[in-house]
Amino acid sequence: MQPTLLNFIDGQSVVADSGRTFDRLSPADGSLVQRVSEAGAVEVAAAVAAAKSALHGSWGSMDVAARASLLHKLADALDRDTERLLRAEIADTGKPIALAQGLDIPRGAANFRVFIDMVKAAHEASYRSSTPDGRGALHYTLRRPKGVIAVICPWNLPFLNVTWKLGPALACGNTVVVKPSEETPTTATMLAQIARDVGIPDGVINVVHGYGPGSAGEFLTRHPDVSAITFTGETRTGTAIMKAAAEGTRPVSFELGGKNAGIVFADCDFDAAVDGIMRSAFLNSGQVCLGTERVYVERPIFDRFVAAMKSRAEAQVIGDPMDPATTFGPLISHEHRDKVLAYFDRARQQGATVVTGGGVPTMPPALAGGAWVQPTIWTGLDDAASVMREEIFGPCCNIAPFDSEDEVVLRANDTRYGLATTVWTQNLSRAHRIAERIEVGLVWINSWWLRDLRTPFGGSGLSGIGREGGEHSLDFYSETRSVCVKL
Ligand code: NAD
Repeated sequence: MQPTLLNFIDGQSVVADSGRTFDRLSPADGSLVQRVSEAGAVEVAAAVAAAKSALHGSWGSMDVAARASLLHKLADALDRDTERLLRAEIADTGKPIALAQGLDIPRGAANFRVFIDMVKAAHEASYRSSTPDGRGALHYTLRRPKGVIAVICPWNLPFLNVTWKLGPALACGNTVVVKPSEETPTTATMLAQIARDVGIPDGVINVVHGYGPGSAGEFLTRHPDVSAITFTGETRTGTAIMKAAAEGTRPVSFELGGKNAGIVFADCDFDAAVDGIMRSAFLNSGQVCLGTERVYVERPIFDRFVAAMKSRAEAQVIGDPMDPATTFGPLISHEHRDKVLAYFDRARQQGATVVTGGGVPTMPPALAGGAWVQPTIWTGLDDAASVMREEIFGPCCNIAPFDSEDEVVLRANDTRYGLATTVWTQNLSRAHRIAERIEVGLVWINSWWLRDLRTPFGGSGLSGIGREGGEHSLDFYSETRSVCVKL
């Protein structure tokens, strides 16, 4: 077992005054991975004070070029430390090494580089106007850091998500206090330590550990010196955080849950569509906010599509996350598995035909204590069934037939969420039409989760508030000031 993981405040590893700890168990085998020091109100206040002091001191007074150079050093150091970060992320999440190596860890450095370069290249608008005395005025805008940002992260993509927030927040000159998920506290803490080692001043990145209500998450979001809150997680948690943010009218950026539709037309490239829907339903064991839990397939190819998905789901290699051949890992915890298995039961009660899966796989003795479930496919669920309306966040989807474009658009839009849709067709006119009619923040045509970090990311309805990515991140993480000079 690793030594106790500590909070990271003002450049130091800090044991919580209360002496309270919580245990992090391996999703893959149930063993104790690490004990974690739980921050109380005292440690959260110290972290916010350190962030405030760095904002008004070393970091705040640094010019953009010096800040950018330090952040580039951080990105390079993250690349050099890939192996250690990879192991820590896998120990916390149980995700297969091929996935963490190909996606989660490399995105860390990329998230810094993209936003540093954007901030360096950002230009400020200026305007000339006339005045009654004829002398005129010059108006221009300045971007200033917003202040101390509270960064509240989920467990499904821990390193990817924290760097997605910290890249633009730090590039814009803010300081941060991060509250990683209690399930996955390690890589955010390592990031803060690596940042200190490359010379990023103390207090710029602070990390506090704990839970949400009555713990570090709530203490942080309620702290009056927090200027803005960026949160990724469940919609219900977003509601609680919004109430905390209302005190002091702090702005929020929310990336929340989804109940995303995949739409497959008969004219699609069949193999590519099966491949894309498979990935969107089962990548990271279905624990991706962008994942597809509702699949609609045009009737002429419905049976063939279901059969292809079944055989692909049954070919998943479920096993040791450290084995490069593994394609499918465990769920994050036994608690989450109980929730997902309860949905599996409910799906049967609500009339689903189980095409494949629906239970717990038999694992070798070394992995028997893990939070495993089978990749699961249903047909026959009614759109009104609660399993079709609530986010499950597990490796499962229902596949339903449809007969017309109008019908499928109506059905896909029949949800209070509005995060992502993936559409498969070779008819480009139709693809563009659907992109306009689908009420979500992200539409992928003949692809899924293909990202350019300069583009807006986020959802509507229950799926979020605001957008991050590109200019949208710069807007959230800075205050725009308008300056007027009478000439
Ligand atoms: P969660 O909401 O349970 O927890 C997220 C974080 O919020 C954790 O750090 C938790 O400790 C903290 N928290 C909980 N209650 C809090 C409170 N009252 N005050 C302050 N902090 C609090 O979410 P999760 O289970 O970790 O993650 C899964 C969810 O995240 C899914 O709903 C998924 O769709 C969503 N998600 C969305 C996106 C997106 O970009 N839209 C990306 C990833 C995950």
